[in-house]
Amino acid sequence: MISIFSPDHALHDPPHELLDGALIPVYESPRRATLIHAAIRRAALGPILPPRAFDSAPIRAVHDDDYLDYLEGIYERWVAAGGAPAAVLPGTLAVRWMSRRCENPIAAPGYYTFDLSAPIVAGTYTAARAAVDVALTGAALLLEGERVVYALCRPPGHHAGRDLCGGYCYLNNAAIAAEYLLRSITDRPTGTIYRAPTADQRVEAQDRSSDRVAILDIDYHHGNGTQQIFYERDDVLFVSIHADPAREYPYFAGYVDERGSGGGLGCNLNIPLEAGITNERYLEALDGALAAIGDFAPGFLVLSAGLDTFGGDPIGDFALTTTAYPLIGQRIAALGLPTLIVQEGGYAAAELGENIVGLLWGIQEVGEK
Ligand SMILES: [Zn+2]
Repeated sequence: MISIFSPDHALHDPPHELLDGALIPVYESPRRATLIHAAIRRAALGPILPPRAFDSAPIRAVHDDDYLDYLEGIYERWVAAGGAPAAVLPGTLAVRWMSRRCENPIAAPGYYTFDLSAPIVAGTYTAARAAVDVALTGAALLLEGERVVYALCRPPGHHAGRDLCGGYCYLNNAAIAAEYLLRSITDRPTGTIYRAPTADQRVEAQDRSSDRVAILDIDYHHGNGTQQIFYERDDVLFVSIHADPAREYPYFAGYVDERGSGGGLGCNLNIPLEAGITNERYLEALDGALAAIGDFAPGFLVLSAGLDTFGGDPIGDFALTTTAYPLIGQRIAALGLPTLIVQEGGYAAAELGENIVGLLWGIQEVGEK
């Protein structure tokens, strides 16, 4: 199995985040990627390659232009306007009836952020941009015939919406890769904004069932950003297995009744789970998710792979053990789909490497038969 990795992730190293009222060190640290990189190298899964360089068109197909410009320039603008140099973190958030855009560099972060867990430092944009290249390189390799590729993305991406960062996420690596795959197999230009298909086009799409991509999100937290990006789409199935948002972040999305809207109705599937979930119960839930993906008959699978489902994770409450991850991998691989694995969360430092290697071995074992 080919893995893709960029050392540029280390440029994103914020000193703190504000979590539940406390200013704490950021859980999503460079050490995570260093540990994972060391573990996949030790496991000798296959070559670890640097990413290719992509232009911004695949990113602009998913994220708004003004948001991308914001991410690129805000740190310098913030500091120049008197913001704390430690990190960009808003004090005022645009919500509901007060959501006018404000160009003031001290206020703008409140327009483009939905929580206080996505601080921006001088190297954040470069690191996030590199993570996108990592994911897109994996997608390109699938299009060239690879069956399974692992994209060691950091920072992660699944909480990032079309024009919002949050939850350690800035650019939605999995969504950008999924859209890139889709546009490549349907010959849609990569630089144009997607328009909802007409009824005739939808009938035609049903005849070309592989012109679809499924995203399976197995991070402990709901992939609210990915859900938002594809919510009205019928060519991308988004399935997320996660902690019930009634008790866990991101709280305001991720419920069962969020099924998609417009043409995308039925193409969004949330599977929220209770605290203390065991391997056995989790695998049952996974089987339900995989059945839905099988019915959708996509041409590619993008796996948002978070390891914070592990019982020892400091910010999760599931009870999965290390033995679960190869089993999860095997079941996913049994779909028989070309699969891009995109790294999302996972914060149990001691076991992080072993757990991701287990997942990758499980997928490779079945996927390459
Ligand atoms: Zn997570």
